[in-house]
Amino acid sequence: MDLKAPRGTKDIYGKEVYMWQKLENVLREICENFCIEEIRTPIFEHTEVFQRSVGETTDIVQKEMYTFADKKARSLTLKPENTAGVARAYLENKLYADVQPKKMYYIAPCFRYERPQAGRMRQFHQFGIEVFGSFEASADAEVISLAYELLKRLNIGNVELHINSLGGPECRKKYNDVLKQYIGKTLDGLCPDCKERFTKNPLRVLDCKNDSCQALLAGAPAVLDCLDAECTAHFEMLKTILNEMDIPYVVDPKIVRGLDYYTRTVFEFVTTEIGAQGTVCGGGRYDGLLTEFGGNKTGAVGFGMGLERIMLLLEKQNTAEQRYKKIDVYVGSVGDNGLKKSQAVVYQLRKNGLNAEGDILSRSVKAQLKYADKIGANFSTIIGDNEIENDCIKLKNMFTGTEYQIKLTALMDTKEISQWEN
Ligand code: ATP
Ligand code: MG
Repeated sequence: MDLKAPRGTKDIYGKEVYMWQKLENVLREICENFCIEEIRTPIFEHTEVFQRSVGETTDIVQKEMYTFADKKARSLTLKPENTAGVARAYLENKLYADVQPKKMYYIAPCFRYERPQAGRMRQFHQFGIEVFGSFEASADAEVISLAYELLKRLNIGNVELHINSLGGPECRKKYNDVLKQYIGKTLDGLCPDCKERFTKNPLRVLDCKNDSCQALLAGAPAVLDCLDAECTAHFEMLKTILNEMDIPYVVDPKIVRGLDYYTRTVFEFVTTEIGAQGTVCGGGRYDGLLTEFGGNKTGAVGFGMGLERIMLLLEKQNTAEQRYKKIDVYVGSVGDNGLKKSQAVVYQLRKNGLNAEGDILSRSVKAQLKYADKIGANFSTIIGDNEIENDCIKLKNMFTGTEYQIKLTALMDTKEISQWEN
């Protein structure tokens, strides 16, 4: 076949999709514990939604977006991240008129035109949360504590929390000047991208993935030194609450995050266990975003977590269950009457809430039992003329080999297959 999935995308099936479902269950459960509700926004938005929020000078908007014109020549973009869409939805649906804070989570695909490699895809998935309506550092701490607790529940160790503060717009302006002065002196040694970033948005230079650029930036001034009293107090408060929560962190003045909308707190969870793509989660505060969309100034904080990177870490644990499908019982058949009856029995067991499987390939009894073994059915039985006539079947525990004689009519009433072992 010459048709292949587009570069940077992949099919998820079999044991892997089971692992994804397990992960998603943990995500949904933790959000319930934190009293956060789900939001589902469209997969594409008007391109402007991302231009205005993510920022014109970011890599995402400049190089990575899947943008296309629809049949009426409107410019649409597959979402490269979720915050912009959720913020748009918050305003459009007047969620600010509900009780505040409004806390929402999403599990959704994202699309970025990037060079595919381990942990970097063109279609990938993010789990994230957004908390609207609070300017307080306690909201930042809540968001961070969710990500921290989640990694714990997933048994993912060796991940460090890095935090920083970018301050408000005034502090940013001040820092921009200081940084520009510093970078100006090393400009010749920087990569072409950074030279451009230098003129358009110097802060972005700190985010460069190029080792030689990073080396030149080692002595760059720290944004924390440019914060005003209020922003400093906000950052101190966050650290105090994290200490109180027993959540370890490292203050890392190099974190600026890839998107333009952040103010004050920014943070990342990073690991060295999955190679270069080590940032599993990135987030921060974005108090200015809703005004970009024409809303009132609204405190907002959240994060996005790359689920493919989480999966890479989970795969390392190698605790994937051997039998990922739980099949209670296989009901096979012999002969014409058996075939018809067994189909009805399987259907009845399914109606009873059991995971029941039968034969839809008209295989031999031997092949049916081999199949039952392969799919890991806990119990099996074969129905034929004798079984129907005498209302008696043999139910076999596939793992111990023990057989139980029971009535066929009783089997059809079964709601819990293990009842026959007592
Ligand atoms: P990176 O620095 O790795 O490019 P980023 O700063 O572009 O990440 P964000 O926009 O903050 O990433 O997205 C949040 C998270 O989504 C990242 O921390 C990462 O885990 C994940 N992520 C981002 N881009 C990709 C991608 N192309 N493939 C898989 N996961 C991704
Ligand atoms: Mg990126």
